[in-house]
Amino acid sequence: MIKYSLTCKCSCTFDSWFASSSEFGRLMKKKLITCIECNSNNVNKSIMAPNVSGSKKIDNINYEFQKNIKKKIIKYQKFIKKNCRYVDDRFAQEARSIHYNKKETKSIYGRVTTDEINELNEEGIETITIPWYDKTEN
Ligand SMILES: [Zn+2]
Repeated sequence: MIKYSLTCKCSCTFDSWFASSSEFGRLMKKKLITCIECNSNNVNKSIMAPNVSGSKKIDNINYEFQKNIKKKIIKYQKFIKKNCRYVDDRFAQEARSIHYNKKETKSIYGRVTTDEINELNEEGIETITIPWYDKTEN
């Protein structure tokens, strides 16, 4: 069995199964393949997604892409943990005291709410937020 994505002159696309590519060719010649929308036999094989394995490849690329992003974030997390001081949920207070007192030069990291981020931004205190993965997930 082989799956083809088909496009019609009416601009609709649909998937259809055929016994083989030659069977598809035979049905095509006899104009036995019709559009599911308008019933016309003006259908053609779509070059966008020729078969099942094609779309599976796209899934794999997405998966790899997301895996790499996660890897990068975890790497970034390690850097932050090594170079910054953890302040837990006192991030907003600590960020303010650093900003206004200019005592500490070491960066901090911790938990912060969206409201707090907005407040800090309004006060001209720059923050960076990244998704945070737990160690156990590693
Ligand atoms: Zn059609």
